[in-house]
Amino acid sequence: MTESLEKILAGEKKYRLKQIEAAKFDPRINNFSEISTLSKELREKLKSVPWLSVKLAVLQESRIDNTKKAILELSDGMVAETVLMGRKMKKKIKNAEERYTICVSSQVGCAMGCSFCATGIGGFKRNLSAEEIIDQFRFWQRWLCVKNGKIDNVVFMGQGEPLLNYDEVKQAIIILLKNTEIGPTKITLSTAGIMSSMEKILTDIDFPPVRVAISLHSAVNETRKKIMPSHQNNFFEFLPIWAKKYHEKFSSRTHFLGLEYLLLDSINDDEKHLKVFIKLASKVGRVRINLIPYNAVGGSLRGSKEEVIKHWHNILMKSGFTTTIRHSQGADIDAACGQLANKMANC
Ligand code: SAH
Ligand code: SF4
Repeated sequence: MTESLEKILAGEKKYRLKQIEAAKFDPRINNFSEISTLSKELREKLKSVPWLSVKLAVLQESRIDNTKKAILELSDGMVAETVLMGRKMKKKIKNAEERYTICVSSQVGCAMGCSFCATGIGGFKRNLSAEEIIDQFRFWQRWLCVKNGKIDNVVFMGQGEPLLNYDEVKQAIIILLKNTEIGPTKITLSTAGIMSSMEKILTDIDFPPVRVAISLHSAVNETRKKIMPSHQNNFFEFLPIWAKKYHEKFSSRTHFLGLEYLLLDSINDDEKHLKVFIKLASKVGRVRINLIPYNAVGGSLRGSKEEVIKHWHNILMKSGFTTTIRHSQGADIDAACGQLANKMANC
């Protein structure tokens, strides 16, 4: 919420904010004067307040798949990146709305410094507010209204570490759940594993039951530390204990934890790493494993060979884990995971 909106609403009834919040989720409404439930005077007062906290700076469309990346300008001139990914439908139904997943950013940049990630390499700028996170959704919602589409999945896999911006991310999720048809299991929060925030999720009664995915990338201390400098050696003891409590809190059988594993050639993809990973994953309980092929971001790292990725997939499935290989979208516009780096000059 912008300061001036807050100021203007200070003398108004509390439900006014909720009315405005809800109206902003209607893509046919594009300014305050169109909210018919507000009084004429209030609409007049709100005339000078920007409708959304983000403004489109650049829109890039992939030539190889149905992916779009938007670089959105924030009120202080910084930018947030968000990605729209069209999903192929199994059966083509005439006049059916297309379904989309959006990937949202939770911070401008990231402080975690993972060596394989363009966002990490660029460093941290600031947290995004709940409004700025939600407005990434609203931006695509408006864009899609013209294109006849529907967003039914939201992943926090854009720029930033969502659990280092706990309160704003939580608030954004709560508002999204309240004002859209998206259910909690259609929202995925991906984290590098911030132990203090993970603990907080367990005791926070308001934290929505969204899916959580842990970016593991190695179950070997030296390797994880090398590629994720924020790694702490007690993480592998912490994770199974935390997961047990997590599964107790979110006890539905469909509420699994995601384990993400980026496969890097000669770094974390040999038999030893596979064996140790299986051992750790089996202690984590209900998990789904997502193997991630590396998206090049410059530097000396290389992704694992295709046959290695297939081998990992095969062994993990044989070991009883539901395992998928992430299909990378939008690589030609630097919109794939880890490629978001505010490269305005490229556009
Ligand atoms: N900070 C959070 C969420 C943003 S990153 C996290 O790390 O989980 C979203 C996902 O993209 C993470 O799983 C991350 O490990 C992955 N990723 C980062 N760089 C990548 C790259 N170059 N290629 C493929 N995946 C990458
Ligand atoms: Fe940050 Fe996630 Fe990138 Fe690591 S992978 S630098 S935690 S955005």
